[in-house]
Amino acid sequence: MYLGALDHFLHWLEQQGIATHSVNAEHVGAFLVGHLPHCCCSATGIQRWRTCPGVSI
Ligand SMILES: [Zn+2]
Repeated sequence: MYLGALDHFLHWLEQQGIATHSVNAEHVGAFLVGHLPHCCCSATGIQRWRTCPGVSI
């Protein structure tokens, strides 16, 4: 589950154009509060993200 959540976060960073070396607390907050509640990664056809809606860190 943890690695799945990390993969999800990395996927989101890539979508946002955020380099992993520049990640900060604001990015994490934006992911948790701004993305997860409205996650639609599973609708993009990326099968490995299909657990997105219920994922938690
Ligand atoms: Zn997502």
